[in-house]
Amino acid sequence: MNSVSASAGSASARQGDKPMSRYAEFYRRSVDEPEGFWSEQARLIDWKTPPQLILDASRPPFARWFVGGTTNLCHNAVDRHLASRGEQRALIFVSTETGVEKSYSFKELHAEVQRVAASLMELGVGKGDRVLIYMPMIPEAAFAMLACARIGAIHCVVFGGFASGSLASRIEDATPKVIVSADAGSRGNKILAYKPLLDEAIRLSSHKPDAVLLFDRELAPMELSEGRDHLASVLLEKHRDAEVPCTWLDATDISYTIYTSGTTGKPKGVQRDTGGYAVALAASMQHIFDGRAGETYFSTSDIGWVVGHSYIVYGPLIAGMATIMYEGLPTQGIDQQPDGGIWWRLVEKYKVTVMFSAPTAVRVLKKQDPALLKKYDLSSLRALFLAGEPLDEPTGRWISEGLGVPIIDNYWQTESGWPILTVANGVERTPSKFGSPGVPMYGFKVKILHESTGEELAGPDEKGVVVIEGPTPPGFMQTVWRDDERFVNTYWKSVPGKLVYSTFDWGIRDADGYFYILGRTDDVINVAGHRLGTREIEESISGHANVAEVAVVGVADALKGQVALAFVVAKDGAAVADEQAALQLEGEIMKRVSDDLGALARPARVRFVTALPKTRSGKLLRRAIQAVCEQRDPGDLTTIDDPSTLQQIKNLF
Ligand code: ATP
Ligand code: MG
Repeated sequence: MNSVSASAGSASARQGDKPMSRYAEFYRRSVDEPEGFWSEQARLIDWKTPPQLILDASRPPFARWFVGGTTNLCHNAVDRHLASRGEQRALIFVSTETGVEKSYSFKELHAEVQRVAASLMELGVGKGDRVLIYMPMIPEAAFAMLACARIGAIHCVVFGGFASGSLASRIEDATPKVIVSADAGSRGNKILAYKPLLDEAIRLSSHKPDAVLLFDRELAPMELSEGRDHLASVLLEKHRDAEVPCTWLDATDISYTIYTSGTTGKPKGVQRDTGGYAVALAASMQHIFDGRAGETYFSTSDIGWVVGHSYIVYGPLIAGMATIMYEGLPTQGIDQQPDGGIWWRLVEKYKVTVMFSAPTAVRVLKKQDPALLKKYDLSSLRALFLAGEPLDEPTGRWISEGLGVPIIDNYWQTESGWPILTVANGVERTPSKFGSPGVPMYGFKVKILHESTGEELAGPDEKGVVVIEGPTPPGFMQTVWRDDERFVNTYWKSVPGKLVYSTFDWGIRDADGYFYILGRTDDVINVAGHRLGTREIEESISGHANVAEVAVVGVADALKGQVALAFVVAKDGAAVADEQAALQLEGEIMKRVSDDLGALARPARVRFVTALPKTRSGKLLRRAIQAVCEQRDPGDLTTIDDPSTLQQIKNLF
């Protein structure tokens, strides 16, 4: 394994002859003395009333943080900065879809949020009411989230552009009083009208919202439903000068719900608190992201995902940073012409210090001219964080060499709200290792357990299920929305005899305490009695020079139990254009896996496709691929990005 960042300092969390590193001591305190540790972290945010009890863990697996404290997320993200940096940029909006580039200062953001808050209140929204936000990546979406937080309403953001069926099931589950939406989104210059999708979703849902608040971008015509639909422009004008004070909420009051990506099945409604979340984000901005007030943060995610909640909206703003909201593909300029360097142009222009993206986006950029990485002055950038899926070594190496800054892989889940495994460079400069997201973050007691006996696997390189021992730290999900039983049964009862949170990911830890994620627990292949993680096979295949992307699934086999099938997107499509060439590349790939992992792991077949089935958040849908290969029904496909990719695989069988 090689170091991604050549930084000094020891990452070893081992005790022994060496003195404990600064991070090891920081971590030790977080888990051994959680009350003391987190009461210090709690000082990073403003409280109306300070917490009385730091942690109530009397009813495991539920953890209640900062009991008795009152605070407000919007106050901490916006109002708190007015005195010290009111005129500074808070939100920078860049749309390469509509050619708009616009900044809002903290003062302007404060005014915008209050207008939306007053409009929501006029529509009857109050504390504890749900507001479903179905919006494209425009500033008004962030205003709406912050407005909800301001008045104590629970927001539930649904990824813009989800089809009616997916939206309907979320409306049904969240039972919103009001839905906030827009006429349309746009992707690759293709306008997607939201209003007809929303109307259909409301028709399908047995729950009906009282009102719909609609932002008109004038991209698509909207038919308004009398008495239910309200144009935001009208209400906002009426409340131009609104002053809406923050509603002080209990730390344990719900701030929002959000659904998981649906990679492995039916999405789960993750519920999050207020005070714990604010503290967790403030702490992570300092210790993990090392972002400072007055600087600019650029996350390329979407507000429909947890990364967008934590690190487009709340995290950077709580830290007093400007945050970039980006609508568009990474390959188009503000003049709407192709430009594979647009993100780097933004880094230069806004002096971005911290950037956050996903391996899937880097793989897209990898197909662009590498000179684009050298064209701009990227000297402001301190690090690029990547999360959401495994970062394969070739991709990590390519971007690391291109940018010349540390690439920081970080592993987490919608459920956790912030990174579980990474390195905390804000506490101590720590080297990263390719292929590993890093070490457990403070507050997370991460263990590897034998999946059927539940026994802890403490030795290096022993494969097992990655679990978290309670109490879970601040910011972690409180429960499944309206379903405590599902929370306990789904997450905490999967390991026999132990009440531990299962990540449903498979992993190992090396002798230095670095974890490696080997795939989802349901992605493990059993070939003739040998258990193999699909991730390991994918990692080996992706090292081939002509492989752009790969998915490996285990498919039922009468003889061996299961065999591995690999679906590959070739970098050079011409190389697999005829059967002869495809056979040759298949042979090379098989040999590579045999050499790296042994003959058992060698895929039974390698098939070439032009694109792989992914969720809208860019995650591989292995479960769907596997189902199709076994001629089964692929199940819930509501979050698939492009159904034709699955059809391509179906056609191979
Ligand atoms: P669902 O739970 O509905 O099936 P999902 O698990 O894809 O969907 P998310 O919460 O968005 O929904 O994704 C979390 C998962 O993504 C992790 O459990 C892990 O499998 C994967 N993941 C996230 N970050 C990393 C990373 N840095 N390295 C490897 N895997 C990662
Ligand atoms: Mg999951």
